[in-house]
Amino acid sequence: MPIPDSMESRLAAIRERIAAACARAGRAPGEVTLLPVSKTFGVEALRQAMALGLRRFGENKTQEMRQKAAQFGTDAPQWVMIGHLQTNKARDAARLAAEVQSLDRIELARELDQRLQKEGRALDVLVQVKTSPEPSKFGLDPACLPDFLRQLAAFQALRPRGLMTLAVQSDDPQAVRACFRSLRILRERLREDGFQGLERLSMGMSGDFELAIEEGSTEVRIGSALFGARSYPAREPGAA
Ligand SMILES: *Cc1c(COP(=O)(O)O)cnc(C)c1O
Repeated sequence: MPIPDSMESRLAAIRERIAAACARAGRAPGEVTLLPVSKTFGVEALRQAMALGLRRFGENKTQEMRQKAAQFGTDAPQWVMIGHLQTNKARDAARLAAEVQSLDRIELARELDQRLQKEGRALDVLVQVKTSPEPSKFGLDPACLPDFLRQLAAFQALRPRGLMTLAVQSDDPQAVRACFRSLRILRERLREDGFQGLERLSMGMSGDFELAIEEGSTEVRIGSALFGARSYPAREPGAA
């Protein structure tokens, strides 16, 4: 038995909740990946999580990702960029990230592609879509998605794999669910329109991942439920 309230016990509890949500939705638990979000937590916490078998970690600032990456050698984990990425930070992302889930504009795609070509690398990307009316949210307007994906095809170092969203911050589960559902429906429409390779839906965080799974999430991004409370607000802290 893991020690109560250890990272191990929190991870086990999250996995159980993922499995239960999958069962409710008639999905296999293997359809949903856990992306631990390590932003604000130090390398100690990362090593602890790695000892539990976790290998990919979400970060929302390139500077923090770079500082952490410098403390690993050949045992480095995979870094997944999930925060708003300024165009002038594309180089760091192109060098360090295994994946970018916050692609939301064509200038960023262009810059990432150029940097990746220089590095001789390619990158999996998810397009971040705005599914809530809150003004502070980053993400592409859903109406722009088809055009955006068509333009992305020109960037050979970028491999679009799906969509990502943050739900509205609300106590009303129906409002939160509606955001997740709209992302799934968008993906279905894109598939019907012939867009391929959009297998992934990254949606759901510590406070809402079960709703996201019920609405079709293939990847939940979990920070505080695994690592503990952060000392600053959870939503888009990189947004300033
Ligand atoms: C911080 C963050 C998360 C994780 O948030 P928690 O509420 O701690 O699980 C997920 N996605 C994004 C984009 C984030 O910035």
